[in-house]
Amino acid sequence: MTVGLGGPTHGWRKLDDGSPAQQHRTYERVHYSQVHLGVQVSLTVYAPSREAADEACRAAFGRIAELEDVMSDYRPDSELNRLCAQAGGPPVEVSGDLFTVLHRAHDLAERSRGAFDATVGPYVQLWRQARRSGTLPRPEDWRAARALVGYRKMRLDAAARTVELDRPGMRLDLGGVGKGYALDEALKTLREHGLTRALASAGGDLAVGDPPPGRRGWRIRVWEAEGGGRRLVAANCGVSTSGDTEQFAEIDGRRYSHIIDPRSGLRYGEPILATVVAPNATASDGLATACVVLGERAGRELVEAAPGATLYLRRVGGG
Ligand code: AMP
Ligand code: MG
Repeated sequence: MTVGLGGPTHGWRKLDDGSPAQQHRTYERVHYSQVHLGVQVSLTVYAPSREAADEACRAAFGRIAELEDVMSDYRPDSELNRLCAQAGGPPVEVSGDLFTVLHRAHDLAERSRGAFDATVGPYVQLWRQARRSGTLPRPEDWRAARALVGYRKMRLDAAARTVELDRPGMRLDLGGVGKGYALDEALKTLREHGLTRALASAGGDLAVGDPPPGRRGWRIRVWEAEGGGRRLVAANCGVSTSGDTEQFAEIDGRRYSHIIDPRSGLRYGEPILATVVAPNATASDGLATACVVLGERAGRELVEAAPGATLYLRRVGGG
């Protein structure tokens, strides 16, 4: 797949790695941005030449575009939606990518006891309608959706690489974990092209690779309850922020979040922002979404039980 790169911004830097072998190496810092998965996706790389950066980033954006064809819930012909069209039928063999993401989602659903749940699609549809119309869905619509939601209604078979969805009408939604996976894969592609000093970002998610030359890490700002912003120096990890502040439906003076509680079908209340640092962006993306549903206490328990993960939580007030 060929993907145009658009206009990069870049600059030369004489940067010293500290290591003898790297001492006199010159890197170019190049930054690209494209729209994928409904958001602006950015890649920042340190490369030995502009040409090397171009080639690697073209491949990385190509990989993201490929994953969009797999995971998009907006495209009727995405692999995800073709799978959902067969809900209620026998197990369906899926691509390695789709299986991997669904497997990660299912695992997180179990660990979060259903707070994170990729089968939340029917609720997400109702929430989108509610946001458009400004009125809450009818109780019978919620009831109908409820019968289709629940991660135990999705069965995965790793040996056969199949997915079975119990009921016709089920809809999967990878909005809570897919961007993280796409960014992890973009970094992997850059690494295969020899560029390890890279950062990929999309919406609230970051996949962070090796540090810029001569530095300990990439400087990233996160927010937390006490005292506002905190600066992290991060390398080789994922950093994701989820929350209620930007996307919500306001109905009868209440803000209903786009992050839904699959156990009740609705979420409103004090808006929070959850930032999670984890070993990769697939993990941080899913955990951050789960923490918004779980709230502070259960969110901390979930993150503390996840190896190498840290939670920063911020209450936003209002709402
Ligand atoms: P994020 O921005 O990563 O927090 O993901 C938010 C998106 O995840 C929403 O727009 C929905 O598409 C999806 N989603 C909403 N609620 C849940 C949930 N409880 N579990 C998994 N995904 C969800
Ligand atoms: Mg997420």
